[in-house]
Amino acid sequence: QTHFLSLPLQAKMSRAVQARRLEGIDKNIWVEFVKLAATYSKVNLGQGFPDFPAPDFLQEALKRALGSGNHMLHQYTRAFGHPPLVTALAQLFEKLLGRELDPMTNVMVTVGAYQALFCCFQAFVDEGDEVIIIEPFFDCYEPMVKMAGGTPVFVPLRPKAPKDGKLMSSADWQLDPAELASKFSERTKVIVLNSPNNPLGKVFSRGELELIAELCVKHDVLCVSDEVYEWLVYDGRELTRIASLPGMWDRTVIVGSAGKTFSATGWKVGWTVGPDRLLQHLRTVHQNSVYHCATIAQEAVAQGFQRELSLYGKPESYFVQLPRTLQQKRDLLIQSLVAVGMKPIVPEGTYFLVADISEFKSDVPEVPNSDEPYDYRFTKWMMKNKGLAAIPLSAFYSEAHKNNYTNFIRFCFAKEEATLKAANDILQKWKKEKASS
Ligand code: PMP
Repeated sequence: QTHFLSLPLQAKMSRAVQARRLEGIDKNIWVEFVKLAATYSKVNLGQGFPDFPAPDFLQEALKRALGSGNHMLHQYTRAFGHPPLVTALAQLFEKLLGRELDPMTNVMVTVGAYQALFCCFQAFVDEGDEVIIIEPFFDCYEPMVKMAGGTPVFVPLRPKAPKDGKLMSSADWQLDPAELASKFSERTKVIVLNSPNNPLGKVFSRGELELIAELCVKHDVLCVSDEVYEWLVYDGRELTRIASLPGMWDRTVIVGSAGKTFSATGWKVGWTVGPDRLLQHLRTVHQNSVYHCATIAQEAVAQGFQRELSLYGKPESYFVQLPRTLQQKRDLLIQSLVAVGMKPIVPEGTYFLVADISEFKSDVPEVPNSDEPYDYRFTKWMMKNKGLAAIPLSAFYSEAHKNNYTNFIRFCFAKEEATLKAANDILQKWKKEKASS
């Protein structure tokens, strides 16, 4: 035993402790901006979560699950999804996709959509595979692809100038078909689609989805379709699901989130829906990483879906009411932003809104010896000087394309009326100060 005592107490520190797959992916925009917002902002329209309560029927479902006397709800449930939840999800997606689904093989429950995405990239992407990501994108796609050994290939949505005097719409941001086609090759394994899109709020049209689908079929590419904002579509639009297009069911995994669907982001219940030939590999990743998800949260979400199935398409349905309420909130925020001179891009979906801030360049001081992009500087300046938090849009772009999109910031409008009113007060005061300066 004594020879251990003679070993040096200091371990050698020259060896890298982290695995190579972590290189270059350690930065995360949220860590910095969430902290700044907490320190400086009075009104936080930055991070994407509702500050209003989850619906009563969902809260009641959780209470019922707790008080049911079924002590098994406190123990592990089926690893790939609590049976009542996968059953309800299968019933719902049968309606949405018009095909029969097996709850046990066509649905898998995850810890939020985040883990669903992680499972997809780990299951499908090999060293050297390329994954096409449409910009701007929900920021975790890039590091997750890299961690799996893949190479992200970026293709931007390109803004078209709106008609005179009109606000731009997220529909004005479109893929260039030739540019998109040029990104597909024999190395392409997956394309990530996010419709409705975070951060722009774009809802891809059927024509755009058909173009993507044709390329997927031609090049034998899989599609990870992140549809977490599936119920948040405005102005009477309908979401087209790429999995319902010819040739796409067999190559698509749909990703969803109870966090967004039921305004309960903290519950972290998500899911994947797709063919068994794809989901069987997600199950392999799941069983070797997370394995079980919280039983009681799944039970309550299952009851939420059962309620929605019974009210499907009726005015009392949360899936009908939530977008109606959020559309009003969207329009309120648009008005407030226009008042101060920002140019909002009207989102067709999601609870985000991107605004053009080019008019404010002279208000925001340059930071000496810093190459921080204008949208980052503006956002920090706005938080510190106006008490209003948002997120710079260039955070949703790859390093190579960031600098082309530094005149925009993203707001979240899934907020209480009081929060949006407080934001409006800040913007009105700001407008007056601008007028008098
Ligand atoms: N995908 C997108 C596009 C998102 O915006 C989010 C959450 N902001 C997620 C996935 C992750 O969802 P969850 O909270 O269910 O993990």
